[in-house]
Amino acid sequence: MIVSKFGGTSVGTFEAMHHSASIVAENSDRSLVVISATSGTTNDLVSLEDPYLDSTSREAILLNIENRHLAIIDQCKEKEKPESSFRILLSHLRNHLELPGRDKKWKDTLYAFGELMSTRIFAGVLKEQGIDVEWLDARDVLKTDSTFGNAVPNVTLIKKYVEEKIDPEKRYLTQGFIGRDEFGNTTTLGRGGSDYSAALFAEAVNADLLEIWTDVAGVYSTDPRIVAEAQPISEITFDEAAELSVFGGKVLHPATLKPAIRGGVKVRVASSKQPELPGTLIVNTASKEPVVRAISLRKDQTLLTVKSLEMLHQHGFLAKLFGLLAEHKISVDLVTTSEVSVSLTLDTAHKASNKVELTEDILDELRTFCEVDVEKNLSLVALIGNKMDATSGISGTLFGLLENHNIRLVCHGASPNNVCFLVKEGTGEEIVKLIHRKFIE
Ligand code: ADP
Ligand code: ASP
Ligand code: MG
Repeated sequence: MIVSKFGGTSVGTFEAMHHSASIVAENSDRSLVVISATSGTTNDLVSLEDPYLDSTSREAILLNIENRHLAIIDQCKEKEKPESSFRILLSHLRNHLELPGRDKKWKDTLYAFGELMSTRIFAGVLKEQGIDVEWLDARDVLKTDSTFGNAVPNVTLIKKYVEEKIDPEKRYLTQGFIGRDEFGNTTTLGRGGSDYSAALFAEAVNADLLEIWTDVAGVYSTDPRIVAEAQPISEITFDEAAELSVFGGKVLHPATLKPAIRGGVKVRVASSKQPELPGTLIVNTASKEPVVRAISLRKDQTLLTVKSLEMLHQHGFLAKLFGLLAEHKISVDLVTTSEVSVSLTLDTAHKASNKVELTEDILDELRTFCEVDVEKNLSLVALIGNKMDATSGISGTLFGLLENHNIRLVCHGASPNNVCFLVKEGTGEEIVKLIHRKFIE
């Protein structure tokens, strides 16, 4: 059994849907298809949450959503069913916007409209190619906790509902990104979460293969939008691919590989526009394991430096610091320490995923026991590869190359699969190009 996930651009126009439907048609083992919202729609829905949005802007966004979907429906031979389902969802969306109390729960129900709309229309396009799929409401299976915006899936319950709702003899189409908590509320898995949904489904149905069909021909040596010379990688290990996605390789949602590893599911990333290209296979051991395989860039990072003379030869300071951050649900990425200071990075991107921000109140609490310095607008550059902790010369070459740049925090040695450092926001792309040229091209 194959679980096939198609991202926003792979279902963003009639032509894209048509290509993606042909891929589904080609192999009857593709029996669970997971899709995202049409490209741009989730962003539009996020814009609609603004309580200060005036009615002209609001109508313009709604019209944008309507036009994008009707343009696809208009090219379908049998429009009636997708059009009526779409119009019902659009009117539910309007009703939802009238509800008071725009909390995180309300926002997740808002975001879910994108995937509900795209799946209704894609079901019609699949039908035109002779594929009858059952339209599955992902929320009936993908059970999560109630952390709206970043919900945590309940793997045991997902398995239970998969067994109840999915007949292995049939083919299904469902939504990525969305789930439901135990109280019946719609939840979402965080931006880009459809990859994660597909992996959770793949684990639960014991799939042999998870396919991530996207707008590029696999996982590249770096984001091809930054470096035109970047090349797709034919084989990459789970460890490397996981690091790449965590450190900003948008091609996979950072949590995607966990369920795949647990379930022993192979993963392939490929282009829905050029399905004949080999794409990238993610495997346990790759035939080649170079020291530097890929480079990633993650923007919108914050560096928090705390200093306290109390730290000198004392115990308990780090526990106090991390205890306070944990209390406020602040997740820390990288850490370096000296005798009297600690620097740590916080990922402040993905606002729609409801990550907790470093507020003035939290900073004031920190100031009661240490000096605090916050630096924003930084980017994190990561080199991803193998045995990086045990290979000599990497840092020398790397930092020699970057001698004209001001490097903030550096992390090397904690993982065999990465070396990473912070730089000023505006210089990240240039640095990625330099490193790519030196280590990969
Ligand atoms: P989808 O809508 O299919 O989920 P995304 O836009 O989320 O697609 O992810 C695909 C994009 O990820 C590519 O267009 C590319 O710009 C970006 N990207 C970032 N890093 C990489 C990488 N290392 N390899 C491939 N794509 C990458
Ligand atoms: N539609 C959602 C988003 O834009 C989920 C996804 O595309 O994976 O974030
Ligand atoms: Mg994506």
